[in-house]
Amino acid sequence: MNTTLITGIGSLVTNDPGQGAGPLGLVTDAAVVVDGGTVAWVGRAADAPAADERVDAGGRALLPGFVDSHAHLVFAGDRTAEFNARMSGQSYTAGGIRTTVAATRAASDAELDANLARFVREAVRQGTTTIECKSGYGLTVEDEARSLRIAAEHTPETTYLGAHVVAPEYAEDPAGYVDLVTGEMLDACAPHARWVDVFCEKGAFDGDQARAILTAGIERGLTPRVHANQLTYGPGVRLAVELGAASADHCTHLTDEDVAALAGSATVATLLPGAEFSTRAEYPSGRRLLDAGAVVALSTDCNPGSSFTSSMAFCIAVAVREMGMTPDEALWAATAGGARALRRTDVGTVTVGARADLLLLDAPSHVHLAYRPGVPLTAAVWRAGVREV
Ligand SMILES: [Zn+2]
Repeated sequence: MNTTLITGIGSLVTNDPGQGAGPLGLVTDAAVVVDGGTVAWVGRAADAPAADERVDAGGRALLPGFVDSHAHLVFAGDRTAEFNARMSGQSYTAGGIRTTVAATRAASDAELDANLARFVREAVRQGTTTIECKSGYGLTVEDEARSLRIAAEHTPETTYLGAHVVAPEYAEDPAGYVDLVTGEMLDACAPHARWVDVFCEKGAFDGDQARAILTAGIERGLTPRVHANQLTYGPGVRLAVELGAASADHCTHLTDEDVAALAGSATVATLLPGAEFSTRAEYPSGRRLLDAGAVVALSTDCNPGSSFTSSMAFCIAVAVREMGMTPDEALWAATAGGARALRRTDVGTVTVGARADLLLLDAPSHVHLAYRPGVPLTAAVWRAGVREV
């Protein structure tokens, strides 16, 4: 097997407190050896063993690749006009998610696959090496199943989100739609999904419906994650904790009881600042969750309606500027936090045995991700040891 020594790393983020300073396990003047697809050695450059190939980082920062644990990337169509209207202060009533559902249903498999491949590539170029992908723009048995079939070609982290909103055909019969989502649609989707998700929110699915949907998914071997407490206070977070969900996502409107429930559980609080940015809404408080002891992840929520960014660096910058998180906390949340939200132990760290998913920044420190917002800082990206950028 071919080994590569990456040396001359000015600042290495390992996310292993046993390896270096702080929760990020920072090592200065560091080196990493990659053997095939995994990290084989981590330490000071002066102590590094020989390898077949050598890459000089030139004093720059090396980090674990970003773990984006929440994205909606199987879709077709365009919603530029809707965003433009919203940002121009016009009320916009038509369209919304239905526009994307109609375009997605009308698209061919090849079109959906090409769109998804383009977004995954776009994310990799910005340092994302693991990305979750949800269905939820098909809302028929066949369109949800093919969305997940296509997603599974690009990532193992596939999430069944038939319960994104009630399908237009069932507008007058939401209970009938829940029966479909927990029955025939689940049967068709479960073989292609790892996770089950539901949008628990006023106007989408209430607590009882969400419970029925998640429980049906659990019975089919899927693990729950929940769109919770985004637009209003509600039962989503506490339901996520009660059902042992891997993650409660959004967490924008939280009572003290919600925060305490998250802090006392293994459910990760995943914050998605791109959504608040793109809808001019109040940001969730990362500080409040961290101070309470909750595990926090950051993710893009990349989707055409409410957060059309694939940039984890952007989310880090917003979390630092607007959500009370330190640059170290935001970076941890975008790497190790995302890994926790996907219950992965092989990504989100630079430790011996981890997948060699690495981001070399064109900067001396990870702090530059927030310090230099909007600046492209990717110098190189390796996924499972393969250099992709
Ligand atoms: Zn979402």
